[in-house]
Amino acid sequence: MTTSVMTNDTRAKEYINSVFEQLKQKNAHQPEFLQAAEEILFSLTPVVAQHPEYIEHNILSRIVEPDRIISFRVAWQDDNNQVQVNRGYRIQFNNVIGPYKGGLRFHPTVNESIMKFLAFEQIFKNALTGQPIGGGKGGSDFNPKGKSDAEIMRFCQAFMSELYRHIGPDVDVPAGDIGVGAREVGFMWGQYKRLRGAYEAGVLTGKKPGYGGSLARKEATGYGLVYFTAEMLREKGESFLNKTVVVSGSGNVAIYAIEKAQHYGAKVVACSDSAGYIYDPEGIDLAAVKEIKEVKGDRIHTYLNYRPNAEYHEGCTSIWTIPCDIALPCATQNEINSESARILVANGTKFVAEGANMPSDLEAINIYLENDIYFGPAKAANAGGVAVSALEMAQNSSRTAWSFNKVDEKLQDIMKSIYTESKEAAEKYGYAGNLVVGSNIAGFVKVADGMVAEGVY
Ligand code: NDP
Repeated sequence: MTTSVMTNDTRAKEYINSVFEQLKQKNAHQPEFLQAAEEILFSLTPVVAQHPEYIEHNILSRIVEPDRIISFRVAWQDDNNQVQVNRGYRIQFNNVIGPYKGGLRFHPTVNESIMKFLAFEQIFKNALTGQPIGGGKGGSDFNPKGKSDAEIMRFCQAFMSELYRHIGPDVDVPAGDIGVGAREVGFMWGQYKRLRGAYEAGVLTGKKPGYGGSLARKEATGYGLVYFTAEMLREKGESFLNKTVVVSGSGNVAIYAIEKAQHYGAKVVACSDSAGYIYDPEGIDLAAVKEIKEVKGDRIHTYLNYRPNAEYHEGCTSIWTIPCDIALPCATQNEINSESARILVANGTKFVAEGANMPSDLEAINIYLENDIYFGPAKAANAGGVAVSALEMAQNSSRTAWSFNKVDEKLQDIMKSIYTESKEAAEKYGYAGNLVVGSNIAGFVKVADGMVAEGVY
């Protein structure tokens, strides 16, 4: 290593440390946001060392500060005519390469820290897709569980009654996430259309195909995760065929990850919800899971009514004690800690790829990397959903509707190229095999170069 490269490296480290220290001071009560920022910032050291212009333009201090944070009251009436109040959010983080884009989450745990971590991750994920979309995220601490359809509709309408003034097809394009599926998107879309008095289909993605939604959007995140993992497997001379797979969650991402993994010949033996998990050594009966979750909206323990020989276990974390070749966490953030990661290592798991956002904490990621688990981080591995959302926007603005196969083929191409870009960036900067560093750098460079080109504002 030459002296000047060493100097650049030290300078980059000092710069990143100082950015992160300031971030900690300003956001002391936002652990999830700091966790996401720490993971990304420190992995950028090699690229910052080679690009002094990023320090000159103070790109990192700028990229960790959202363009704006919108927080608002959502008042709505429940079925007993009681007025309920929730808090709504939209974080418009970065629009350098396109309109803000990212889902809406309705879950009681939603707060500003979680919104910011998700929106921050979204910047880099969206850049990785190669589509013209910036980073954003939103949601509410509203709990949709146990609510009637009419209550969900009134909440969604009340939520959109404020949000509509901040979004638009060229401004900010929300979509679904936890607790927000096609039904909720439909209610919000209807309200937006009434308030705007115009048919701006590209303002929301995840709509049903009959009114501007894209075929294959529902499947996109789960299928995309499996396409990405298939590339990881190929790299090591392996495939899904006859592999044992554990998937956490039983929502949108989990269900379609299971579907595609089974299609590729894997045996998926477990999935979960927030109360517990099922273990079916014969292989999950996906039709039963779909009926429980998509049709009945029921709990995963009722799977035993379909398959009495399967097991149900209360609690979620011990799902990772089930021996598997491939682990696909598809439920929520921080569901794999160091203890679970060590168990995966001890059980001989060779691949972990993230369907959920930030399901592995920082210690867990380090354990994968130190123990030769090939790891696909969320922002690369689960980018299929937002990639197809961008394809939905393209269909909306050209007033066309593509076939399922056309969208699915594009999704496969996008996931392959995200994998290749991440792998090559890792190699270029001296971290061969580390897709965390590779995906962070590959996404960051696109946004950072755009920020340099735009100038300071
Ligand atoms: P869903 O609401 O459809 O499903 C979420 C699943 O995770 C449910 O099975 C839920 O169980 C479970 N879950 C929620 N909270 C917890 C918890 N604290 N512990 C254990 N399990 C929990 O959401 P999605 O499938 O859409 O999203 C799952 C993850 O994937 C999220 O991290 C999301 O941000 C990410 N993601 C989603 C995309 C999409 O296109 N939908 C795109 C990219 C990322 P229960 O039913 O009991 O609540």
